Amino acid sequence: MTDLHPFIAGLPKAELHVHHVGSASPRIVAELAANHPDSKVPADAEALAEYFTFTDFAHFIEVYLTVVDLIRTPEDVRLLTFEVARDMARQNIRYAELTVTPFSSTRRGVEEKAFMAAIEDARKAAEAEFGVVLRWCFDIPGEAGLEAAAETARLAVDLRPEGLVSFGLGGPEIGVPRPQFKPYFDRAIAAGLRSVPHAGETTGPQTVWDALNHLGAERIGHGTSSVQDPELLAYLAEHRIPLEVCPTSNIATRAVARIDEHPIKEMVSAGVLVTINSDDPPMFGTDLNNEYAVAARLLELDERGVAALAKNAVEASFLDPAGKARIVSEIDTYTTAWLAR
Ligand SMILES: [Zn+2]
Repeated sequence: MTDLHPFIAGLPKAELHVHHVGSASPRIVAELAANHPDSKVPADAEALAEYFTFTDFAHFIEVYLTVVDLIRTPEDVRLLTFEVARDMARQNIRYAELTVTPFSSTRRGVEEKAFMAAIEDARKAAEAEFGVVLRWCFDIPGEAGLEAAAETARLAVDLRPEGLVSFGLGGPEIGVPRPQFKPYFDRAIAAGLRSVPHAGETTGPQTVWDALNHLGAERIGHGTSSVQDPELLAYLAEHRIPLEVCPTSNIATRAVARIDEHPIKEMVSAGVLVTINSDDPPMFGTDLNNEYAVAARLLELDERGVAALAKNAVEASFLDPAGKARIVSEIDTYTTAWLAR
């Protein structure tokens, strides 16, 4: 089989499921940790690799929150956002919907307007400097409950930054039922935001149904357990509800035991629109290019198949039609030139 890594590395891509703080590379985390020496997070990149080894999903959340705790000032927010965009540009990511959890920062004392200004400033600078178009998904940290939900909806609707396109829900699913968040999703949807909750990552297909029926989900974060319910898979396929699949994340958090047991092939076979994403890439020792390589192996794809996956992400994005057409055409031009070499 051909080595697809060089093709994937140059392929123009869009990413739809990637977390702001979870994208902090060891270099950025080490820099933030050094600035905040009272934190438990190691301040050197080597020790961070060890620190980012998780025993289960609960442990992952615990470690993740210690990194969240390093984002304390608007300058921390700006630095993180801009550097994340730099890493995206290196991978030829042209467009990303970055999941931001403003509640985590405002609760830690970052002034809310200063937070919005910091992400917007970084977004504009990143587009000018790297050519990466960023949009925001504001998500509710599920573990923080309804107070966080109300606050996230308020920040999204009342302070709505220019780049905000969607509203999400992350964190643990066990013990955090989706339907209770309905009023906050209703508020966000009424304000014109799109609904993209995580569901079916660590619990069964009922959680995905709940996200569809109670939260108006237009895309599903992970949706891994959808394959346990053929009726659900058929529904997702028929209604063109994309899944944001993050293969390595599912292994790192033990949501799936082994990569060869990942159900991505069943999703594709059922006709579901599957997109490939990296979730919290440095924490999971991956990046988007690697996720495409993993997906290509699991789905037994060639270059055209990989390009089709990349186009799925563009199609499933909340980019305007002209923006979508531009990236699709870049993907086609690149693929044709590559195959004609
Ligand atoms: Zn996620």
